[in-house]
Formats: sequence, structure tokens, C-alpha cells
Amino acid sequence: MNERAPPRDFVREIVEAERAAGALRVVTRFPPEPNGYLHIGHAKSVALNFGIASQYPGGRCYLRFDDTNPSRESAEYVEAIEEDLRWLGFDPGGEGTTHASDYFEQLYELAMRLIERGRAYVDSSSPEEIRALRGTLTEPGRESPCRRRPVEENADLFRRMRAGEFPEGARVLRARIDMASPNLNLRDPVMYRILHRPHQNTGDRWCIYPTYDWAHGQCDYLEGVTHSLCTLEFEDHRALYDWFLDALEVAPRPRQYEFARLNLTYTVLSKRKLIQLVQAGHVEGWDDPRMPTLKGLRRRGCPAAAIRELCRRIGVTRKDSTVEMESLEHCVRSELDESAPRAMCVIRPLKMVIDNYPEDAEERLPAPNHPRNAGFGTRELPFCREIYVERDDFRVEAEAGYLRLAPGREVRLRFAYLVTCTGYVTGEDGEVAELHCTYDPRSRGGVSPDGRKVRGALHWVSARHACPVELRLFDRLFTVPDPGASEDLARVLNPESRRIEGGALVEESLLPAAPGAVYQFERQGYFCADTLDSVPGRPVFNRVVTLRDTWAKRRRGA
Ligand code: ATP
Ligand code: MG
Repeated sequence: MNERAPPRDFVREIVEAERAAGALRVVTRFPPEPNGYLHIGHAKSVALNFGIASQYPGGRCYLRFDDTNPSRESAEYVEAIEEDLRWLGFDPGGEGTTHASDYFEQLYELAMRLIERGRAYVDSSSPEEIRALRGTLTEPGRESPCRRRPVEENADLFRRMRAGEFPEGARVLRARIDMASPNLNLRDPVMYRILHRPHQNTGDRWCIYPTYDWAHGQCDYLEGVTHSLCTLEFEDHRALYDWFLDALEVAPRPRQYEFARLNLTYTVLSKRKLIQLVQAGHVEGWDDPRMPTLKGLRRRGCPAAAIRELCRRIGVTRKDSTVEMESLEHCVRSELDESAPRAMCVIRPLKMVIDNYPEDAEERLPAPNHPRNAGFGTRELPFCREIYVERDDFRVEAEAGYLRLAPGREVRLRFAYLVTCTGYVTGEDGEVAELHCTYDPRSRGGVSPDGRKVRGALHWVSARHACPVELRLFDRLFTVPDPGASEDLARVLNPESRRIEGGALVEESLLPAAPGAVYQFERQGYFCADTLDSVPGRPVFNRVVTLRDTWAKRRRGA
């Protein structure tokens, strides 16, 4: 799929207006907290931040780990985020990868500057007292007794906080703003808290850690970020973002802009909820192919280009909305339609004996690997007297309009021959166990020799050559469009989100299937060789997506 012209949106309009007025640089950052894996919502932010930076000359985008809370973060997540980002197609490189913790010393100095200007103070109140004085949306807060502490004393206490003289929770550093502000974020927010915990990056060097609100804007300033793009829930924090930069009188200063987060139907995009699914065992892990994490989508076989294309299509606005899962699936299908070679797989095999085909004969029939792109080449399909077709492609009694196999019916075996069903054998259980057919030797390649019309075309595999595989057929993880609104995620889980088909057969050319390789199984869907559970000689294939939007049909009540 071609990635088309860069999108237009309100952020790009701002950047372009500034460039027209002489602004020289655009610098952005993507600031994940390393406390979980990236999901497709993060991809929207990544595509925006890295996309804008690469679009304008001299632009750059930092991957900045927002690692200000050592109790929740780990190096495992840092590595996973870097890997996912590269997979998505964005690589900030060594110099472009930074951490909020790289700036702990400067942040400390900037905090000291605020203390010296009388704009920050050390509060010895307990967390409960601070909460009690904070007020509510309808009531103003009240001032802490520590608010009038002299500058010298504040500076001394802050130094001693850093030196580790106080236990956790005994002191905090707060900005001195306005306890009566209608914006709760401005009611003397906490800038530092004491945490006697090692940090994955700075070890034991610090026992005071900056809060997100304090660290974020100052890191933006220190990195020379021009446009600090975040999601709408930070809109109320913008006043604080600006207050800190104003109080410090720094220049050039970054600006915060908010955009709507990505929501997707039939899934949840919140690390907290995703972690619940993992911990409760509803999925097998962060990389379960049903998860909306980049690890899950990748394992499922979703191409990175499809995620980028989805982000391009949905654009960036300031209006909250929910994107239909069908839109993602549409992007996946159109990408894979171009990039996935074709192959044949019979999910629930039914044996077919071609009675007039010589018993010991065997031939190889050429088949294109892609219907429209000769660059994919051709392969040779082995063909012999016994083959397997899809159980669903046979009916004992054919109703009107039915084009597949039934007694007396003629169909085309793709790339092989025209065959006519002459009869069937039933097993002890009453199920059809075997079909009998005759073939037309003049129809090699599946071509009608005399122009007679044969409408049904079936996929098949040679019984002598086929290889057994396990298929995992995925469906939506939840039964409702907005599972996040449900009190209990477990109650809205789709019990059929994964169906295993253990008896499927694929053509021999597929083996050994490279882990991660994606094929279109003709008439079935797109399938990806699982990277974890495949074993040599018996691959596991994940269904990425069906060939058509069967979900829409189901919803219409079919
Ligand atoms: P979550 O809600 O999943 O816990 P988060 O915002 O806490 O996400 P961060 O690691 O802080 O996770 O996110 C890094 C960046 O990604 C932030 O700038 C955040 O605004 C952005 N982001 C997170 N979720 C989405 C989303 N659904 N759509 C767009 N951007 C998102
Ligand atoms: Mg966050």
C-alpha cells in the first residue's frame, strides 16, 4: 500500500502558520511511561509526533521515557517500547532516545530556582492533611501552615529531602500558586515526593522524584521541544504547564497542544485495563493476538503499515470519537491483499477420491502466488487421485443458487481440474466421510475445455502431500462495542474470541513456514505463522482477519 501525502490537521496548520511567520524548527517528543506495553492508541501519538517531525526540514522527535515513578516502571518495558517503535517504522536512534531521569539534576536546579523566587515551598503536612486542604470543585482549598515558610528554610529543607534525611511521605515540595483557583491543578500542586526506591536508570542516586506535571514541561524546555502534543485529558493541566515556564522565565519555551485520543470499538485502550486482562488470565499475555497492544497486533500478523494507514485516515482532531474496529480491519485487508502470497489451506478436511485419475500418477500444476502481482512468482501444486476439500463445500442436497459440491454437480478445483461429484460415502456416525468424483482430463489448469460454465471454484490440497497445521481463529475480544464502560470486563468478554482448529491441512509449499510470515489462505482469510507456538513440521497459524467484513453481516442480524 502506498503511504499517501501527509495528512492535514490542526496541529500541522499551527506548525505551518509558525513556519510562514519565520519559525525555524519543529521539535516534538513521544513520552511513554515505561510501565506497560504500547497499544494502538499510542501508535496514534507516535504517528503524529514522529510524522510531524519528519515532514518539516530540521524537524526532530524524541522518544522520551517518562520515568519519574520508579515504583511502577521497569527496564523490561523500556526495551519493549523501543522495539515496538522500530517495528511500527519509527526509530529515534540513540541520540533521539532520552529519559526524564536524564534531567533529574537540572530539574532539581530549576526547582531550587522556584524556591529562591518564592514560588515553591516544602510542606511537612501529611498526605491526608494535604488532601483535606485541597478543597473540591465547588469549594476553594485552604492554605497549608507551611505555605509561609521563609525561602532559606525551604531551600534547606529541600536540600535535606534530597540528602535522604526524611522518610517517605514526610515532606513534599509544592508550587506556590493559588489555593482558591477553580482549576484544581493550580492549587499548589506537588512537584517532588520522597520515595526511597532505586530507579532503573539512576540507581540509588535519588530519593526524591519529580511529579509528571513538574517534570514534563521542563523536560520539553530542556530538550528544545516546540510542540508538546498530548491527549485531551491534559487540557486542564495546560495552565500549570504554562505557569511553571512563566515562573522560570525560560526561553524559547515549548507549548502544549491537546488532541483526541484514539478509542477503538470492541476493545479497551488503557494500560490499567489491559493489565487486568493479563493478570486475570483472560488472555495469555501482553502479546496475545487478541490484544490491542502492538505486541499482540504484530503477533496476530497485522502489518505495521496497516496501523500507520489507520492513523493517517483517522487524522488528528480535538473531538473525542471512537473508531470502528472495521476501519482497522479494512486497513489490514488492503495492506495484506497487496503483500500476502496466496496459498491453500483446508480447515475441516473432507477426502475426495477422483476415481478416473490413475492411482499412482502424480503431477505438478503451476499456480501464481499472487493474482495481480507476477513478482510473487508461481509455485507447483502437487495433484493426485486423493485430495482434501473443505467439508463446508459439500452438501448432500443443493438448494437453488448453491454453486459448490453436491452429487451430480461440477466444480473447478483451483488451478487443477473440473471435477463432477458422482457419489459419497457415509461413516458410522452418519457424517459424510468421503466424496467420489470424476475429473475432465482436458481441463488442466482449471480451464473449461469447451466453454461450458462452471461457477463454483474450490480450494483443495493433495492428500499425499498436505501438512497438518493448527489454526487459531480469532474474533473480537469483547461482545460489546464499548467494553471500557462496563463495570466488570470479565462479563463482556467474548467466549468465542479464539477458536482452535487442530485438523487443518496446508499445501506442502508452505513448510517450513517462517515465523511471522503472512499468507492469504484462498477463500478463508489472512493467516500468520505464529512466532511463539509453531514447532518445526507443525506450524500454528493465527487468523489475522477474514477476507470480508463478516462482522457487519452478523450485526445486521444475518
Ligand atoms: P494509558 O491510558 O493506556 O495508561 P497513558 O497515557 O498513561 O496511557 P503513556 O505511556 O503516558 O500512557 O502514553 C504516552 C503517550 O501516548 C502520551 O502522550 C499519551 O497521551 C499518548 N496516548 C496514550 N493513549 C493514547 C490513545 N489512546 N490515543 C492517543 N494517544 C495516546
Ligand atoms: Mg500517561
